[in-house]
Formats: sequence, C-alpha cells, structure tokens
Amino acid sequence: HGAISFEDVHFAYDSARPILKGISFEVPAGKTVAVVGPSGAGKSTLSRLLYRFYDVQSGTITIDGQDLRKVTQKSLRKVIGMVPQDTVLFNDTIAYNIRYGRPGASEAEVTTAAEIAQIGDFIRHLPEGFDTKVGERGLKLSGGEKQRVAIARTVLKAPPVLILDEATSALDTTTEREIQAALDIVSKNRTTLVIAHRLSTVIGADEIIVLKSGEIAERGTHAALLEQN
Ligand code: ADP
Ligand code: ADP
Repeated sequence: HGAISFEDVHFAYDSARPILKGISFEVPAGKTVAVVGPSGAGKSTLSRLLYRFYDVQSGTITIDGQDLRKVTQKSLRKVIGMVPQDTVLFNDTIAYNIRYGRPGASEAEVTTAAEIAQIGDFIRHLPEGFDTKVGERGLKLSGGEKQRVAIARTVLKAPPVLILDEATSALDTTTEREIQAALDIVSKNRTTLVIAHRLSTVIGADEIIVLKSGEIAERGTHAALLEQN
C-alpha cells in the first residue's frame, strides 16, 4: 500500500511567485517515480508538500486515497520515511541516530541497518562538533556518510512510503554508486518518490517526471525520454 496522488497541486512560498503550477501525477503502491529538472524547478518543494512541511494551496495530495490535510503530521511520519539531502544529526552516537527511525529496535537490527548503509564501522562514534561526554571520539562525517545515517535510519523504520532527495553535493563516483546500491535496497517494493539531480541515477524508475518552472514538461520511462530527446 501507500499509493501517492498529486492532483492539480499549486503552491507558492510567496503569493507573488507561484512555484508549483498545477502538478498531477501518481505513484502507484510499490512503484518508484523520479522527479528531475533544473535547479529551482520546484522538485524539493514537491517532496516538502508530501512530507507536510507545508500544505498545498490548491489541489490535493492523497496517500491511499486519504487527503493529507486530514492526516496528522505524527501519523504521516509513521508512513513516510525521508532521506533528505542534508541530514541533521543528534548529539549522540551514530547508533542512537539510526535508532531514531524506530526507537524499539534491537541492537542487532540497528547493526544490520548500519551495515546495509555501510556505516557499520562507526556506530559507536559521535558526530563531530558534539561533545564527547559519552566517552567516544567525535567523528567527522562527510555528506555521503551523513546520508548513509539517514539511509540506515530509514532501513530500520521500513516505512511503506519513501522520499529520497538525492544529494547534490559532488560525491565521488564510488561513493555515489555505493549509496545508490543502498538506496535501491531501501526502496525495493516501497512506494518511492525520488528527487533526482541526474537522469542517469533513475534509469530503473517506473516513471520519470521532468519538472520545469513548476510545470510537468515531460514524463515517461527513461528509455522513452531518451528517445524523445
Ligand atoms: P529544486 O528542488 O527543483 O531545485 P525548490 O523546490 O528547492 O527547487 O525551489 C523552487 C523555488 O522555490 C526556487 O526558486 C527557490 O528559490 C524557491 N524556494 C525554495 N524554498 C523556499 C522557501 N523556503 N522560501 C521561499 N522560496 C523558496
Ligand atoms: P520527525 O517527526 O521524524 O522528527 P521532522 O520533520 O521533525 O520529523 O524531522 C525530519 C528529520 O529531521 C528526522 O527524520 C530527523 O532526521 C531529523 N530531525 C528531526 N528533529 C531533529 C532534531 N531535533 N535534531 C536533529 N535532527 C532532527
């Protein structure tokens, strides 16, 4: 379950400047839809509306047919897992930060999630910049490693719906490939909305939506879009 539907969604942060101008698409349960397009097109705004950081100004977003405006934020966050571009970490161990996804998880489950995200080696460490009162050494995490913490958290939480906001930061190719592999594991059989910055990372998506200036400019499979262009 977890089918997502956007129906004629309009949104503006500032009424003088519309950002999303009538967006309609669906992510069928268990499928993956990727949104690509130039910077500023409104991709992240779409994901923020789905997570209810903001509410739509007109139109409707539903999950399993239920209007998001009628769902509390708390219950919504049980259904949706978000892997953001920039993960904010708590002042505690990496293990704690992973467990935040599901506080009741066992130690073994936390370890497994960390291993899937390939951060198994430093779950006892604290993120750098925080005090070391727990007696562990602060560890400087790169953007890619922080994203792995968010991936591990999501693996543990195992929500039916996923929002993946791919990092824009220039990850090296090996790191990017490894993160992509972890994301593929996480998104398997889940309803997934991917905010992508490159067409090459979303070859396997069931549908790709090309967003330009807040409107859907093109849509189709990777192969179909390549043929048109
Ligand atoms: P994308 O993810 O495609 O790069 P965004 O959804 O982040 O695009 O942004 C779309 C537009 O909305 C941009 O012009 C951006 O400057 C503007 N914007 C994004 N967030 C805010 C905000 N919190 N307040 C005002 N404008 C914003
Ligand atoms: P939640 O209901 O899961 O707290 P939020 O929208 O508040 O959802 O946060 C989204 C993500 O931001 C969380 O999954 C978590 O990664 C991170 N986060 C939330 N609150 C904090 C916080 N106080 N400090 C650090 N990270 C946080």
